[in-house]
Amino acid sequence: MLDAGFICDNADAVKLNCKNRGVSDVAVDRVIAFEQKRKELERTRGETAAKKNEISKKFPTAKTAEEKQALKDQGAAVDKEVGVIDAELKIVKDDLTLNLLQIPNMTHPAAPVGGEDANKVVAQFGEPRAFDFKPKDHVDLCEALDLADFEAGTKVAGQKFYFLKNEAALLEIALVQYAMQTAVKAGYTPIITPDLARVEVLEGIGFMPRDPNPDTRQVYTVADTDLCLIATAEITLGGMHRDRIFDEAELPKRYVGLSHCFRTEAGAAGRDTRGLYRVHQFTKVEMFAFCTPETSDAIHEEIRALEEKIFQGLGLCFHVIDTATGDLGGPAYRKYDLEAWMPGRGTGGAYGEITSTSNCTDFQARRLGIRYKGKGFKGTKFAHTLNGTAVACTRALVAILENYQQADGSVVIPEVLRPWVGKDKIEPRK
Ligand code: AMP
Repeated sequence: MLDAGFICDNADAVKLNCKNRGVSDVAVDRVIAFEQKRKELERTRGETAAKKNEISKKFPTAKTAEEKQALKDQGAAVDKEVGVIDAELKIVKDDLTLNLLQIPNMTHPAAPVGGEDANKVVAQFGEPRAFDFKPKDHVDLCEALDLADFEAGTKVAGQKFYFLKNEAALLEIALVQYAMQTAVKAGYTPIITPDLARVEVLEGIGFMPRDPNPDTRQVYTVADTDLCLIATAEITLGGMHRDRIFDEAELPKRYVGLSHCFRTEAGAAGRDTRGLYRVHQFTKVEMFAFCTPETSDAIHEEIRALEEKIFQGLGLCFHVIDTATGDLGGPAYRKYDLEAWMPGRGTGGAYGEITSTSNCTDFQARRLGIRYKGKGFKGTKFAHTLNGTAVACTRALVAILENYQQADGSVVIPEVLRPWVGKDKIEPRK
């Protein structure tokens, strides 16, 4: 969430930013109006509350019972006035927040401006593998090698759910171990997070769980509670330090969290319908950092470098995208996506997103109340938050199965994962 004062002082820049990010700017003028109303009400409330103080001061010198009663009545009348102002203030603050939540973060000046077509490839690792046989896609490989049961997934939980079986189940655990260990070696604290979180935490991170339209709501809510199934551990890791005031010397704080992720994939109907690429539940290892504004750009590059290291270690061909403004979503100031070559994707193979890392500056911290204090300044400042995928298991599985398949129908297991899978090849079962 942006600061309402910042929006009032920089309305034109905020509107241009909304335009660049493909978001309506109608909330900007509403924020300005509600912020003015809020200030007026706060002022009136202050003046009214001061009247109460004056009345209280007179009380000790009141002599008669009538005088005392008159002061009491005046005090009660002022209390009532304050109550009315507070009720109005609450409505105005709620409206202000509702509109603030619709305005995206500002954007890094180097981010490419435009829609998906403006996404810029900034690094390439490896080249797409040339096959001397017709490669299968991961769904056919899963079927041939008995690695997943999509029918059972649909029967038990619905479309886009699945059971992982045999080496695929072990590969998921291996990917989690490998990604966790890589991040832990880089100084990240390992965490296993809850798979549910409160509505306010999701809103603080930038999700809209209260979206009344089920056709666009991105997360599953749990009936009769204020809980949602998390779409990413970014939600729980960010929420972990809600309302915290750090000492500057404690920052940066780096975490690597494991969770399941649940996504309705509203709006994605008909896209990536086959197999494991776009599913309603997947396991993800997520990196998250809290830091000062001075260090967030550097930590963003650090997280990107770790993602590159993890996928280089897996021996996959991938490139890095500097995401264009239209594709940044709400909270990201800048975002890099890694896209791996997937030979079974589309016709003749295509790159598919495997990770994403965002610098969210103070956008999430403001709503979640995450601050820090330091020696060189008075009071507190909002921290910066960053997140990045260490591994999203099913996407990584798609890339591994499709790239490591052999002419004889087997799939070689990437060397770094073999200790956890216990073999070097998945062979057709006899
Ligand atoms: P995000 O948190 O949306 O940036 O996603 C992080 C990563 O999770 C993406 O880069 C994908 O690799 C993976 N991912 C996102 N959505 C899905 C999904 N519906 N099914 C499987 N993997 C997903």
